[in-house]
Amino acid sequence: MAPLPPGSRIGILGGGQLGRMLALAAAPLGFRCHIFGPEEQPPAGQVADSVTIADYLDEAALSAFSGSVDVVTLEFENVPAACLDFLAQTVSVRPGANALATAQDRLVEKDFAGTIGAATAPYATIDSLTDLEGAVVKIGPRAVLKTRRLGYDGKGQVMLDQGADLGLAWQALGGAPSILEGYIPFDGEISVIAARALDGTIGAFPPIANQHRNHILDRSKVPADLNPAQSNRAMAIATDLATALDYVGVLAVEMFVVGDELLVNEFAPRVHNSGHWSIEGAVTSQFEQHIRAICGLPLGAMTLRGRVEMENLIGDDVKQVPSLLAEPGAHVHLYGKTEVRPGRKMGHVTRVWPGDDLPKRGAP
Ligand code: AMP
Repeated sequence: MAPLPPGSRIGILGGGQLGRMLALAAAPLGFRCHIFGPEEQPPAGQVADSVTIADYLDEAALSAFSGSVDVVTLEFENVPAACLDFLAQTVSVRPGANALATAQDRLVEKDFAGTIGAATAPYATIDSLTDLEGAVVKIGPRAVLKTRRLGYDGKGQVMLDQGADLGLAWQALGGAPSILEGYIPFDGEISVIAARALDGTIGAFPPIANQHRNHILDRSKVPADLNPAQSNRAMAIATDLATALDYVGVLAVEMFVVGDELLVNEFAPRVHNSGHWSIEGAVTSQFEQHIRAICGLPLGAMTLRGRVEMENLIGDDVKQVPSLLAEPGAHVHLYGKTEVRPGRKMGHVTRVWPGDDLPKRGAP
């Protein structure tokens, strides 16, 4: 397929900060973005060409939307599959419904990781309290019960330990279809962001080390402190997953590091918070890379510009903005959210320490 020419319109499902940064990356390439989602005053709408506020299953609104854009992508992975199926009848949707369906369900996702030979925590399907009781015997009492669908930032999860009240844990998740995962006493958490073009060309940024606070990403550092073999293995897992999914766009894969081992935790079929540093810290950002991929353009270089750290500004952290702006070299991004709430991602700050001695990995 020919690349989309400048002036083409990109439809984005979801209107949060990820959509906002996608729209900002699309503009220099000459593309215009149309945001679609149910949220009033979406942060992405402030920087987009047009906005539709409607439910993801509103067929009349979806028809008008698909008629107004040349390609559709998403910045939110819990878009109902029926929404993508409907749109895909009339417009290209990238990544496709299949990749989305795989990533939306923790059980399908873990099974899929197994098909490319990637390891995961031990896990079992839980559809009843009896399943949970049986799985705890097999997997061990130190475990995490997670809903298969719709969990994020630690929501839809219960940590279990010796003597835990399983009935209470099962109730806490409302009896929703779930999985039980063995607890992994990891040495660290990393993610790899891969990008796959329409012609199958693939690349990945070097692995990113992630630290969480209250289940929410707090800071990301790149390159992660891994040995070269482990770093290459992490990038291979992410690129193999993207290829196996016949993926188009940016795919983020989160992993646990346990000694020399890497265990896939989950993947997100979209640009990812742990890749925000790439706006200033890489030759091509994850956002530009995603736009390039879905528009049929060649990928850019994924080389680092130095050692990079990104810190999220969550809730009241946003009060630090005046002092951050006084810090030379601190790149501040605010998401245009007026209401500050505890746990709400308000913005982020990136710092880059240029250096020539970094491994030049990741070029597509
Ligand atoms: P998730 O929603 O699966 O990304 O989980 C959120 C966070 O909970 C992860 O980033 C980990 O810090 C922690 N976590 C999730 N699953 C496990 C596990 N099986 N073992 C240990 N920690 C976990």
